[in-house]
Amino acid sequence: MESYVVNLEHEELLVRRGTRSGVYSMVAVHSTVRGPSLGGCRMWRYDDSRAAVADVLRLSRAMTYKAAVAGLPLGGGKGVIMLEDGPPRGRRRRDVLLDFADTVDAVGGRYITAEDVGTSSRDMTVIAEGTRHVSGLARARGGSGDPSPFTALGVEAAVLASCERALGSDSLKGRSAAVLGLGNVGMRVARLLARRGAKLVVSDIDRAKRKHAERLGARWATPAKAAVAPVDVLVPCALGGVLTPESVDALQAPVVAGAANNQLADESVAELLAARGVLWAPDFVANAGGIINISVEFERGGYDQGRARRRVTGIGDTLRAIYDAATDGRTPLSAATELARRNLSAARA
Ligand code: NAD
Repeated sequence: MESYVVNLEHEELLVRRGTRSGVYSMVAVHSTVRGPSLGGCRMWRYDDSRAAVADVLRLSRAMTYKAAVAGLPLGGGKGVIMLEDGPPRGRRRRDVLLDFADTVDAVGGRYITAEDVGTSSRDMTVIAEGTRHVSGLARARGGSGDPSPFTALGVEAAVLASCERALGSDSLKGRSAAVLGLGNVGMRVARLLARRGAKLVVSDIDRAKRKHAERLGARWATPAKAAVAPVDVLVPCALGGVLTPESVDALQAPVVAGAANNQLADESVAELLAARGVLWAPDFVANAGGIINISVEFERGGYDQGRARRRVTGIGDTLRAIYDAATDGRTPLSAATELARRNLSAARA
């Protein structure tokens, strides 16, 4: 039987059955030590309720670390809508979203929701009818809008800081990169890197994305080939789990920096990467651009795009500090985790 064990170190877990739709939704608040907890709402079909609870607990914890390492005045939380069938549409979708809004509202502002896998900024507009604890609304509504361009900008900053550290320069002219996954973030990262003169290999399981390769001046490869391409940087922008003991063994890139969440199959892979001399930008540092952008909504004066861009490019400096601290056999993962813990303790004090 699959194990669902997640350490319970959270402040709150609320599970509610929707009064309109009958669909269960949940909110986990891992930590509000640095501020109200923030994290996206994942609308997904799970094998069973244990899997959904495990997911919301795990993801909310990861958000605490992501916000803390970025120095944001936010804690970690997450929402899950546990679907029983495929994605709901029309009136049914509205009912499901309003039921989730009730769950968010019941947490009294200790959790602020945002979009995530399965939800869009349009869905946030519906949720906002039922609770004011929503972020990532459209720009026209005073929100910070689509987070993907900012996540991509942060990944670009992570690639540059990592190349500077591993290869001695942050110039991408004459360098090569393989972008895995040409979705909302990957496509934008590919464009940014191409603009800096990088030679690209791009890949997606969706073959319809192949047409973008030509426009980017990139070479198209299958995901399996792109993951082991002889390039300077591997940029994972698809799903998690790409770095396994086997894939690290076959890796040819000296730098890995990308947007995908949970890139390591497990934490011990960070040591394998270091032992092979591969510099890995911890995913929760490199992909924090989206949440950094959202955090600007809560600053005095409200959301400002220029300020958001400046904050997001600060990911480069955060990574430089992490790489500086990753000495004496410590991996960037352990240095990043320690920085997050320090920022949490500072807030507690
Ligand atoms: P997306 O769904 O728009 O794009 C993902 C792309 O990856 C799709 O084109 C999909 O076909 C492709 N893909 C899936 N499996 C693949 C595989 N095995 N090999 C190659 N391609 C594959 O998602 P996104 O918003 O671009 O997010 C990408 C990753 O970044 C995700 O892991 C996400 O959790 C993470 N992330 C995104 C944001 C954001 O702002 N969107 C923020 C933080 C982290």
